[in-house]
Amino acid sequence: MTDLCDPLLPQLIHCQCCPRLVDYLATLPPKRGRTREEYWNRPVPGFGDVNARIWLVGLAPGAHGANRTGRPFTGDGAGDFMYPLLHQAGFSNQPDSVRCDDALTLNDLYISNSVKCVPPGNKPLASEFHQCRDYLVREWHQLEQVKVILTLGRDAFISVLHLLKSQGLITRLADYPFGHDVCYTLDNGQQLLACYHTSRYNVQTGRITPASFLQVLRHARQLAGADRG
Ligand code: SF4
Repeated sequence: MTDLCDPLLPQLIHCQCCPRLVDYLATLPPKRGRTREEYWNRPVPGFGDVNARIWLVGLAPGAHGANRTGRPFTGDGAGDFMYPLLHQAGFSNQPDSVRCDDALTLNDLYISNSVKCVPPGNKPLASEFHQCRDYLVREWHQLEQVKVILTLGRDAFISVLHLLKSQGLITRLADYPFGHDVCYTLDNGQQLLACYHTSRYNVQTGRITPASFLQVLRHARQLAGADRG
């Protein structure tokens, strides 16, 4: 597999700070028909336009999606739903995200996860959110053009609230209830926009639809301001 290097966090892929997640990566069985050698099985770097005005933040790599391919939201149902719609909304050069070397590029959008290693049951521990927050903070500092933080799912939203609290931008998490397409203006001028996760479950139950996700993407672009020249 291509050796990925995070454009913002070059040391990230070597991180082994969370023993439970390191153990899980070492023992996670591959999906039927695949081999462990096909899997990335390391912290998953962020991906996209480092000058983006919109930063999409998810929860954590999917076991057989991003953890296999090495790119956020790539190789599982959440990404299969999301990437064609990102393309439709003008954020990418192609509709599919299949592999980390598939020539996909993002425009005005950067994507990363709150926790960079796949957690058992898709549920990071509070200590793992805390441990990985340092990377999230560094991304937040380095993505200097970001005007909109678009969070997918309640857990990612809360993770970003903790980030903002750690930076003195908010005081009480309870003042920022999660809601689909709900937006908060922060003291630094950035917008925090919440969205349901694009998980297969949410898609199958109709909690999120192509139309409602496109609406959130339009909202994000509108909040970011006029198109870049
Ligand atoms: S979750 Fe984050 S802090 Fe923990 S091992 Fe992975 S990269 Fe390091």
